[in-house]
Amino acid sequence: MDGLDDVIAAIATAPGAAGLAVVRASGAGALALADQVFRGGARLAEAAAQTLHHGWAVWPEEPGPARTPGSASPPRRLDEVVAAVFRAPRSYTREDVVEISCHGGRLPAQRVLAALLRAGARLARPGEFTLRAFLSGRLDLAQAEAVADLIHAETRAAHELALAQLAGGLSRRLDALEERVADALAEVEARVDFAEDVGGVEVPERIVAEIEAVAATLAQLLASGAYARAVREGARVVMVGRPNVGKSSLFNALLGEERSIVTPHPGTTRDLVNERLEIAGVPVTLVDTAGWREGGDAVESIGVGRARDALERAAVALWVVDRSVALEEEDRRIAQRIAGRPALVALNKSDLGQGLEPAAVGALLDGAPRRVVAVSAATGEGVGALAPALAALLGAGEERALGGGPPELSAGNPRHAESLQRAHAALERAAQAARAGEPGEIVALELREGRAAIGEVTGRAVSDDLLERIFQRFCVGK
Ligand code: GDP
Repeated sequence: MDGLDDVIAAIATAPGAAGLAVVRASGAGALALADQVFRGGARLAEAAAQTLHHGWAVWPEEPGPARTPGSASPPRRLDEVVAAVFRAPRSYTREDVVEISCHGGRLPAQRVLAALLRAGARLARPGEFTLRAFLSGRLDLAQAEAVADLIHAETRAAHELALAQLAGGLSRRLDALEERVADALAEVEARVDFAEDVGGVEVPERIVAEIEAVAATLAQLLASGAYARAVREGARVVMVGRPNVGKSSLFNALLGEERSIVTPHPGTTRDLVNERLEIAGVPVTLVDTAGWREGGDAVESIGVGRARDALERAAVALWVVDRSVALEEEDRRIAQRIAGRPALVALNKSDLGQGLEPAAVGALLDGAPRRVVAVSAATGEGVGALAPALAALLGAGEERALGGGPPELSAGNPRHAESLQRAHAALERAAQAARAGEPGEIVALELREGRAAIGEVTGRAVSDDLLERIFQRFCVGK
């Protein structure tokens, strides 16, 4: 990775009108560099650690032949600011850091940043401050990733999950598991090396049980992962159903019932209607395909274009059926379209009579997880049961479906889940090989693989390539 010795600078706050904006710089020499753009009571390079300094940000003077005293014009003022000095290693990056608080809005921060760049700083790459915090050992990789999650969290549950990860909860848990694997590995290796002294290379029951216990803990972490991932990344729930069964009515009823998330990107398109709401801590995008009815056969319509794409990307299909009339051929085709996907069936228009049995609808669906709820968009009956049913299909347990967030520790990040799956598989193979009386070398091989895979999450063994991919998710200035 290049440029790690440079002083980097970036605007750390979001653009727009605001009270304050912060520009920060980090790296060896950052304080002396900042002195070129700061005029206050003291020089920042000589300032004590963790101190604040009031002054003016100015355009740096041109380097060149020394001017005669008194001949230089006063430097151009850019903004009245406060500079915070953090000396290494007590800073976010563990390098010397200066944070210049200027007035909010686009221009003050931009001009102060331009001045720092003029004075010799390089514009930071996305996530580079946090990357440096990782490389200096202040944060491990899971914690660094939690910073990005924290910034992107849309629900309180997502925020709390990220906070726990930032505080090192997941890392400590994984470090402990890794250590247990390392201990088991050491014992197995010792037996291989000193086979005669310790009575053969067979792996004792005690160690096999320990390997299995670690594998079981990993399985638990992975089990809650799908829900944690939905909390972290959000999930799409796509409504399907014949025309006039009440999709739009239910869409509105659900939105009225659940807290909606205000987003800067309103989701209405020509053919689909999107709304964002929160269900059991999951930021859900509810998509109504009802607006898309051109071209006669509605099912065929669903088969084309956006509606089909939406269904393909859906975590859960919300299939609305008119309960007051018999099923039609079109319902059967819709059932085929949602095959293999978790589905919530809303038996709507219950107020008009309950001719249709839930079992008749269920029979059309395959073995994928499903719930059936009787509702009436007209009277509101049963609408309150939709969100808990959706939550359950999104992987929240029954209690969590009714409130509360995800477990503190879970593999909600797909990168973590992938590593832990490999670790789990390797440990299972190790235990199996040991139980089958295979040579200790084989068991050791699997344990080594399992250990390395756990270590990938906290970043003990990680390639530059992977680091680059992870930190690309960050914004500049973080
Ligand atoms: P969509 O085409 O699937 O989006 O269906 P709409 O939501 O537009 O509803 C079609 C018609 O059914 C409208 O006249 C609604 O008022 C009516 N409707 C929707 N839900 C119910 C319900 O639960 N009970 C009754 N009686 N009518 C309903």
